[in-house]
Formats: sequence, structure tokens, C-alpha cells
Amino acid sequence: MCGIVGYVGKENALTKIINGLEALEYRGYDSAGIAYLWNGKVEIIKKEGRIETLKKEIDFSLSPTISIGHTRWATHGKPIERNAHPHHCGKFTIVHNGIIENYLELKKELTGKGYQMISDTDTEVACALLDAIYQEEKDVLKTIQRASEKLKGSYALGIICEDTPDTLYATRKSSPLIVATVEDDKFIASDVPAILQYTNQYYLLDDEDIAVLKEDSLTFYQAGEQISKERLVFEGNLESAQKEGYPHFMLKEIYEQPNVIEKTIQFYFDGTKESLFQRLPDLSKYETIHIVACGSAYHTGLVAKTWIEEIAEIPVLCEIASEYRYQKVFYTPTTLVIVISQSGETADTLACLRKANQEGMDTLAIVNVVGSSIAREAKEVLYIKAGYEIAVATTKAYSAQIAVLSLLTLKLALIHNKISEKSFERFKRQLSSLPDAMRTVLKNPKYKEIAEKIYEREDIFYLGRKMDYAIGMEGALKLKEISYINCVAYAAGELKHGTISLVTEKTPVIGVITDPFIKEKTISNLKETAARGAYVIVVSNEKIEEAEECIEIPNFHPLLQPLLTILPLQLLAYEIAKKRGCDIDKPRNLAKSVTVE
Ligand code: GLU
Repeated sequence: MCGIVGYVGKENALTKIINGLEALEYRGYDSAGIAYLWNGKVEIIKKEGRIETLKKEIDFSLSPTISIGHTRWATHGKPIERNAHPHHCGKFTIVHNGIIENYLELKKELTGKGYQMISDTDTEVACALLDAIYQEEKDVLKTIQRASEKLKGSYALGIICEDTPDTLYATRKSSPLIVATVEDDKFIASDVPAILQYTNQYYLLDDEDIAVLKEDSLTFYQAGEQISKERLVFEGNLESAQKEGYPHFMLKEIYEQPNVIEKTIQFYFDGTKESLFQRLPDLSKYETIHIVACGSAYHTGLVAKTWIEEIAEIPVLCEIASEYRYQKVFYTPTTLVIVISQSGETADTLACLRKANQEGMDTLAIVNVVGSSIAREAKEVLYIKAGYEIAVATTKAYSAQIAVLSLLTLKLALIHNKISEKSFERFKRQLSSLPDAMRTVLKNPKYKEIAEKIYEREDIFYLGRKMDYAIGMEGALKLKEISYINCVAYAAGELKHGTISLVTEKTPVIGVITDPFIKEKTISNLKETAARGAYVIVVSNEKIEEAEECIEIPNFHPLLQPLLTILPLQLLAYEIAKKRGCDIDKPRNLAKSVTVE
């Protein structure tokens, strides 16, 4: 769900729209567009990628007084210019946030009436529906009302009609939309930050309300009747509006994960094997895989290495990009090189991608930022659907990378007949309950008690084996990034070869135990530390009696489990950093996008 801004008034609508879209930019998007009426005709400009690119195409010397703008976060159809909003059909031009669930059915009906769709979006269908109804009604208000009776799903819509060039319309259902007025300036927006530079007062549309905005009037309707609405006041600044009530972006992003994971998975997998075959690249020829990344993205690679090797039975080399770029690397014609980067600009990862490309290898990038260097240079790209991540310490992008890697593993396992029908069915079944299970884990307050006990310590250890070790590494990285505590993750069996000498009375040792096959082994290693006085905390999908503290998480399919395991570790890191008074969203010495070697 991305950004909507609309304006009607006396001033240059183009500037108002772009300012508003820029204030919503933090939410993340993959394309942007604007429509305005000029000399009675609608003009539409849209661009893939950043608002910056769109701005270059706009002639700001024109001064239209009515316009709608959008930043799109693709749900139906690829993030390309053709699918970007606004969409136009007949007399209508619209921007839309949300999903029209019955768009296929409506599309059939409308194409039957002669409408031709040029995009793959559900939005264009809604636009055609408005035009079709308007042919009969000849009244925009009634048209919107009748259209909302037919549209199923969620929508926030900004609408302009060429027959009423001085009027902007807005309506919504299960997707937020606000309206604001500052003398002759009238705005619609999907969220408060878009209007805060002009006013902190706004009206919140309720489901199926219709707002009719003109330079000199603002009217609201519900079920055909004019209604009055209460004006609300936002107390806070732009940053607090963008944080949506959370004290830090990191916490907001941690809580966004259930939705992000749902969106990311739905984008590539609709529950059928066919969707994996159609929406993910062809992986059938690969006999070895290299995964190359830095930081948290490297940790997702380590999780994937365990999965791909154990479930799909394909050998994987997972390497830190700054090493891989200078290493002797052995490629074969059947090697696939996967690079992972949130920003798509990570210098070391980009260098590795270029190295693999130069060798003529097949390369696949997993990135968040559409149109970034890595996305452009890789032969194939899979976008995670994490949205814009502001906190420097990644959380939702990490999880979304894990989700995409899980689907890639599933596809590889299917290609090589390595996954049983029963296991596939379990994956599918648990996938639908995953977002709620994640929400439940996020609500467990146990991490707060633990943070209270350990936040003043200067050394903390994380232990695990295999996949759980990789997750421990991410947990440790989160904590050191934002709390500046020296913490390290160890493969549980390695501790006694040196590190255990660092364990003293009450040293916190955090065990990660979700893999049933090596559970007992890790428990033994934790007991070794407890015997030397350690304060043993465990995150596990079953109750571990031997631990002093156990954060229990639900037991899920191994390809989904890490998405639950990581949550208490992120929250623990967050809480400890908060207690230590650290600058959580912008930790010292760190940058969000590491564009240097
Ligand atoms: N479903 C629409 C699309 O895919 C709207 C996406 C959005 O909310 O940005 O174009």
C-alpha cells in the first residue's frame, strides 16, 4: 500500500503533489506517477523507480490547479511504467491503493463491453468500471457510489473526471485516506505526512465515504446523503507521523514483518506449484549455487545454504562479498550466483556480481530497491516486498530476503523431486497461519524481562548449530549494531575450543534451538556454559527445561521457522539498546547503504 496525494485549489498542483509524494517516500514504492488537467485534457506522466526520475519529466512551469499523484507498491502486475498509476480510461483518471479482489471477474465483464486494458493492474479495471457506470449515470457522485457497491477488496481512490475539471473526488474501503483543507487549497492523501507541511488538521474518511473537493468547497457523502465530519488534529511533527506511533522506525519495521512476509510470499506463490514455476526464474540446470552478500544479507544466505543443501540437496557456497570479490572462485557452467542486498547498491556485493557477470555466469539478485545498480546489472532479479526501510539495522528486509530464499529452495526441491507431497502441504498450510503466528510472537513480552536483566552486561554470547547458528549470528549482529555490546555468535560445538574461557558468572548465553535433529547437542553445549556460571536464555520451538529463561515460539516447517525465530532476537536487541539510551535508528558509525568497499 503506497502513497496517494491529490490537490485542487488556486496554486500549482504539480508542486503540491510532488511535495506530498516525497513526504510519503519513506513508505517505499517501485514507481511513481502524476496526472493533471491542462486545457481541459488530462496529462499523465509516470516512471518506474524514484520520484526523482518522475520530477525530471514534469514541466513545473505549467501551473495546473488540479492533480493526483501516486507512488505504487505493485501487487498486480510488474513494477513497470505501464502498470504505474495514475490509470486512465474514458473520462476517468484514478490513483489507487489496495487490492480489488474481484478484478478478474470485472475485467471480463468490461472487456465484453469493449474496454481494452493496457496494464496488468486491478486499478485499471476499477477505472474502466467507473467509466462504464458513468456512461449510464452521467453523474460522477452516483457513479462512484455504484462502483463501490461492485468493487470487492480494499481501496483508497483519488479520482478526476474530464467532465468536472474543477473537482477532485476520493473514496475508500479498508485502505486509509484523509482529506485536508487550507483555505482554497484542498488535499487528499493516503497518510498524514503528505499534508503536514501545509496543515496538521484533517478529516479521516470512513469506509465508503465519498469526498468531493473543489477550490471553494468540501463536501462529504455516505450512502448518497451529505454528511458532516469531525476535523482531527495531528499532534506531532513529520518524523513522528512517519513513525505511525512507534517510538523508533526499527520497532515499526519489526512490527511490519507479518504483513511484509505475507505480501512478499503472495507475490511469488499462490499456493500452487505452478506459481513457483512461473514467477521464479528457471533453476533446473544448476548443480552448484554461490550466495554472496554482506552483513544481515549474508546471514540470510547462510540460512539458505542449510536449506538448499538439506532440502534440495544442492551444494552451496555462501560467502561474504568483500572476500568473494578477491578470492579464487571455481565456477562451472551449471553454477548460479545469487547476490543479496537490501539497497541494491552494496559496493562489495555489486563487485561480486560484476565478477560473476564477467565470467559469463548466470546471476540472480535479491534486492529491495527497484532499479538499483544490482537490480539492473543482474541477469535475473527478484524483488523483496519489504517497502522502504529507514532504521539502519535491518529487520523487515532481512525477513523478506529469507522469505524469497525459502521459495527458491522450495522450487529447487520440487525440480529435483526432493520434497515429499506431505512436506509441501505442511509448508502451504502453515504459510497461511504464519502472519498470525508472527504477530503472537511479537506480543510475547518475555524479551522485556530478559532485557531488564542483561542490558548492563558487556559480553553476550549466542549459540546454535546449522540454521540456528545462522540465526544466532543475525541476533548477535542486531544487538551489537544498536546497543554497542560486544556479542558474538558461535557454532555451539566450537565454544569449548577456546571461547568458553570468556564465560564467567552470569554471562548471558543465548541459545537458539529449533532444529530437532541437533537439539540435544546444543542443549549439552549450553549446559557446559551453565556449569561455568552462565545465565542461559533460549529461543526455541519447544520448552527447554535446562534453560533459565525460555522464549517459546511456535513449531513451523523448517522453511518458515527462521521467520519466527528471529523475532524475539530483534526485539531483545531493540529493548536492550533502548535501555542503554542508544540512538536506535541511527547507530554510530553505520550507514544504511554501504556504497564503499
Ligand atoms: N493493486 C494496485 C496495483 O498493483 C495498487 C498498488 C498500491 O497499493 O500501491 O497497482
